[in-house]
Amino acid sequence: MTTLTVSQARSAGPAGQQFPAVGGVPLAEFVGAGLRVPVVLGGTTRYVNLDYAASAPALRAVADRVAELLPLYSSVHRGAGYASAVCTGAYEWARDEIASFAGAGDGDVVVITRNTTDALNLLATAAAGPVVHLDIEHHANLLPWQVRQGRVVMARATLGETIDAIEAELAGRPAALLAVTGASNVTGECLPVAELARIAHRHGARIAVDGAQLVPHRRIDMAAAGVDYLAFSGHKLYAPFGAGALVGRRDWLDAAPPYLAGGGAVHQVRLAGTDWAGSPARHEAGTPNVVGAVALAAACRHVASLPARAVAAHEGALLRRLSDGLDQIGGVRTLRLWPDEADRIGVVSFTVDGWPTPLVAQYLSAEHGIGVRDGRFCAHPLLARLSPAGTAVRASLGLGSRADDVDRLAAALAALAGHGPAWTYAGAEQGYVPLPDPRALPDWLTAAAGPVSPCASGSGQAPPSPPTG
Ligand code: PLP
Repeated sequence: MTTLTVSQARSAGPAGQQFPAVGGVPLAEFVGAGLRVPVVLGGTTRYVNLDYAASAPALRAVADRVAELLPLYSSVHRGAGYASAVCTGAYEWARDEIASFAGAGDGDVVVITRNTTDALNLLATAAAGPVVHLDIEHHANLLPWQVRQGRVVMARATLGETIDAIEAELAGRPAALLAVTGASNVTGECLPVAELARIAHRHGARIAVDGAQLVPHRRIDMAAAGVDYLAFSGHKLYAPFGAGALVGRRDWLDAAPPYLAGGGAVHQVRLAGTDWAGSPARHEAGTPNVVGAVALAAACRHVASLPARAVAAHEGALLRRLSDGLDQIGGVRTLRLWPDEADRIGVVSFTVDGWPTPLVAQYLSAEHGIGVRDGRFCAHPLLARLSPAGTAVRASLGLGSRADDVDRLAAALAALAGHGPAWTYAGAEQGYVPLPDPRALPDWLTAAAGPVSPCASGSGQAPPSPPTG
């Protein structure tokens, strides 16, 4: 991974942009930075978000663009009013921005979807023949193929052997598509998409990359890498929930049945039959998510404006700090597929000997205000391979992460490994929960959602303070 000195990192930004000490502080401004959350031991603490791989916080630049659009809210692709023209223009601007972010080739099409899952399910309706995929995939890049009798290649002990196994499968029996993740959502390990594209093409297959975890961390240039299809989600790329994209070659998408049947996807409807539009309209029936698309595009634009070397240096420094910190705690085991491979995004899954993973995650949140994810991460086959208990805890980093986040996690885990939690926890249907749980949700939510956890005492602890910016 590229590393930069502090002075290189500072000078790496475009004119006027200063980049701080590598790994030390966030690389961008986020909505909700400085959030304080209640802890069971009393009072509040700065929230440590180590759950970027699930959903990342929204960039300030994205929120500003959305705020600019909302007063102009109106119909899209219909309506003669000025605000309608703005919304239509904004939606198509978003498409262009997404294409440029992905390095789409000439003639590639951008279908705006709800998320990566939606994008890959759409592609599954269009793939013109058998599909090959790995067993280590997130369910979004596994189940759409499994329901169509996809062929599974088991990941091997090394990345090199895994690539050879993929090539052997493609050489042995023709396939139309190789579907691979760009980066694992469990181990953070990256796959060499350009090399896999060459292999797929050599054997007459196309390649689809699940970019959900890759694109928030690495620049991708589809045309240069030979990637035929790329799927990703806005909510992992520092935009709010609701929009994702499938970018890729037009012919399969134009030949596929419309993903949704309805208004906007047609040229002409007669009761006897319909002339369907080509892509992307063909697959975007109904009123589209203009705000989501604009948010996703604004995120693409902002992330692309950050120097790739500064982003890699920031994340690389934090990942090393995290890995070193975890390595020093007795009983903490990290999950890796290919321990010899260095190319990883800032995602680390681990277990703590003697402590069930849901309890570890609850402890980190309840006593230390640290947000992580635990479970099987929608990658059941991979967790079954890598973790004896079949579950793990995942800490994941992003542009808003800082050294102090990593240090707080390491200190909290060292305390757990050393003397156990300070609070009591009970097994409940959803996993472990603090007992009692004096934390409360914000007032406006409490009535609808109930307490933070089902075993809350309802002792009336003050709700979280509002974000401080
Ligand atoms: N692919 C990978 C590698 C993921 O990590 C995820 C989500 O965690 C997905 C696909 C699915 O993304 P979404 O839930 O936005 O559809």
